[in-house]
Amino acid sequence: MCNELPKFKYNPNCYALENEIFLYTKEGKICECCNEKTNYYYDQMMYSLEDTECICPNCISSGKAAKKFDGEFIQDSENSQIIDEIKRKELFERTPGYVSWQGEYWLECCNDYCAFIGDVGIKELEDMRIKEEVLKDYESKNGYEIELVKECLESKGSLAGYLFQCIHCGKYRIWVDAS
Ligand SMILES: [Zn+2]
Ligand SMILES: [Zn+2]
Repeated sequence: MCNELPKFKYNPNCYALENEIFLYTKEGKICECCNEKTNYYYDQMMYSLEDTECICPNCISSGKAAKKFDGEFIQDSENSQIIDEIKRKELFERTPGYVSWQGEYWLECCNDYCAFIGDVGIKELEDMRIKEEVLKDYESKNGYEIELVKECLESKGSLAGYLFQCIHCGKYRIWVDAS
């Protein structure tokens, strides 16, 4: 069993259990890709023809799972204007997704993909003192009505917020998704 967990540039908090990205089992489970026992496992569907229910972090990080199951972990990104194939592959093929209603929609900034931070609602944004900043940015996009977002955005709620941060300039941004 491998105890060293790989780090993910675009999903740095993926082992935080409240994010529900990797699930944890004390006994360990067998990874469907490498057949090794793993404590943290990814049970979300890959965007692939095969159903996978247990992929270990190492097989995601190395690209082995994407290759073996001929799939990707991320549904979509913001503008897909990032033409750097290395960055694209790192996000789509070697980064775990996040739990959402309609699938991942990865935000971008400074010509790179942002890091996914976690689930947020208005309360969390207020606690972090970034509410004005992120709502202003969100309002400029084609998303939900800003008044509705101000009123109903809730972490893991039926109108759910997903917080991202630029890995270059540090700017926070949100995406909003509904059940
Ligand atoms: Zn594995
Ligand atoms: Zn930036």
